[in-house]
Amino acid sequence: MRRLTVIVLNKTRLFLAAIVAFFLLEILVLFLRATLLIVYMCIIPQKGIIVIDPGHGGIDGGTTKDGVIEKDINLDIAKKLKVILQQKGYQVVMTREENISLNSLDNSNKSRHRRDLNARVNIINKHNPLLFVSVHVNSNYTNTRATGAIVFYGEKYCESKVLAYCIQRALNSIVVNGVKRVTHDPQPGNYFILNNSNVPGVIIETAFISNVEDRSLLTKDEFRKQLAVGIATGIEKYLNDANKVVAPQLNEGQI
Ligand SMILES: [Zn+2]
Repeated sequence: MRRLTVIVLNKTRLFLAAIVAFFLLEILVLFLRATLLIVYMCIIPQKGIIVIDPGHGGIDGGTTKDGVIEKDINLDIAKKLKVILQQKGYQVVMTREENISLNSLDNSNKSRHRRDLNARVNIINKHNPLLFVSVHVNSNYTNTRATGAIVFYGEKYCESKVLAYCIQRALNSIVVNGVKRVTHDPQPGNYFILNNSNVPGVIIETAFISNVEDRSLLTKDEFRKQLAVGIATGIEKYLNDANKVVAPQLNEGQI
């Protein structure tokens, strides 16, 4: 009988010890998770919000030529840019992540195109980001030799011009197959999204679909990656050095 009591007591202790061990393990796991979260937040600080606007989408294909459709190129570059900026610690908001038009998000009685643009501006203003970039593809059928990237800025914020110069410089330095791309200066542009957003931002025309070489490049994943890296480099340059920029110049070393 005594022997039986000892065995039962031992089993009870064992059971209690298992419960205590289980809870201790749970506490340890929670502690480790909290520690990892703190380390993660310290290593990858959220530097602020950036809105990426892949131009067009859905019914609005943008400019097209020989099966190359602007809306698809814009979205792919934007997604690549999103990953790069997130890796750099920025919180990224996309105006669209799929092949959709945004006109249904705005219920004003304006045209479909204007409702689409309104929705993009509303997303930008709602998130109050550090800046926004609108990604597009250019075309010029009166001069099909025109190539290269051109960044447009509005007159509303002087910071937009600085941002445009920083991104333009980075895109001007892209080398493809050992050949430097044709370079441009950024240009002022009177565009709805630039005039109506409440933060600095630019429209980036990444290449000319009307030019046979540019069009071919736009279909290549590697080139779209180069464009995304260039845009991200320009954004970082602007955010890190904007306070030092007085008169933005295109030549490296002048910022
Ligand atoms: Zn466009």
